[in-house]
Amino acid sequence: MKPAPFAYKKARSLDEAVALLGAYPDARLLAGGQSLIASLNMRLSQPSLLIDINGIEGLDGIALKNGVVEIGALTRHVQAERSEIVARHAPLVARALPYIGHVAIRNRGTIGGSIAYADPAAELPACLLALGGEVVAHGPQGARRIAAEDFFKGLFETALGPHELVTAIRVPAVRAMSRFGFAELARRHGDYALVGLAASARAAGRGFANVRLGFFGVGATPLRAKRAETALERGDVDAAVAALDLNPLDDVQASGAVKQHLAGVLLRRVATQLMEAAR
Ligand SMILES: Cc1cc2nc3c(=O)[nH]c(=O)nc-3n(C[C@H](O)[C@H](O)[C@H](O)COP(=O)(O)OP(=O)(O)OC[C@H]3O[C@@H](n4cnc5c(N)ncnc54)[C@H](O)[C@@H]3O)c2cc1C
Repeated sequence: MKPAPFAYKKARSLDEAVALLGAYPDARLLAGGQSLIASLNMRLSQPSLLIDINGIEGLDGIALKNGVVEIGALTRHVQAERSEIVARHAPLVARALPYIGHVAIRNRGTIGGSIAYADPAAELPACLLALGGEVVAHGPQGARRIAAEDFFKGLFETALGPHELVTAIRVPAVRAMSRFGFAELARRHGDYALVGLAASARAAGRGFANVRLGFFGVGATPLRAKRAETALERGDVDAAVAALDLNPLDDVQASGAVKQHLAGVLLRRVATQLMEAAR
């Protein structure tokens, strides 16, 4: 299919993009286009205007500042994948990036697009949640930061206001005792995950502190499993699996029961990664 007719404007500044969002309530922002163009072609979305944000300077780039890794919204997935800063200081993100689609998609797809699109089976929203990161947004009142915990509100729904855009994500840089784990199950490499898990923790004696488990593909948003986190902090993997209270619903990929089982399998794999890294 072909998209319904739409107008196109290339925004040259954040304020221009925000003003256009205000003037055209059904407009859509165009970043990498890897999700948006498909939804236009299938006529799942029929905006009157596409606001291209690719010409806005300063929206891409990766920096380490005061113990925080900040990744600009227009940074392509491949740029982050090749970044020394991400590899050294945000290794959970580095580990997750190769699972996003295929190289052709990662060449165009952007970090901000992945976060704003908020696909419940996407890797980066779960990483942001597992790391306790933040989204930086810009709107009519200027910039604000939104904790990952508060950002993902529902199926493809975020805390962004109608005239706001994502300008960056921020994640805490690794520290000496930081530990990470990542695993996902997909039918084929490059497909969206059936179920996935991004995890962070701090090694503490025989167990862990600050375990954060970010499951994806199991609900309308990435989800933490707090009872399982507590069990894992004691180093008790069996109890953590038993405490998994995700209650995933059936979807086109698998039944809720299968997803619940797979979440337990992934939790064991990720717990092993955390423990190996702690040795
Ligand atoms: C075959 C295929 C497989 C894929 N597999 C995966 C996968 O396994 N995992 C995964 O995570 N993704 C996957 N994707 C999606 C891909 O990662 C997209 O690039 C990403 O979801 C959206 O990024 P984008 O820059 O292309 O955004 P676009 O497609 O340009 O935009 C997506 C949506 O986000 C909005 N948006 C974009 N940027 C901003 C911003 N800065 N602020 C506010 N709103 C914004 C747009 O208005 C639009 O509604 C796949 C895509 C394809 C085509």
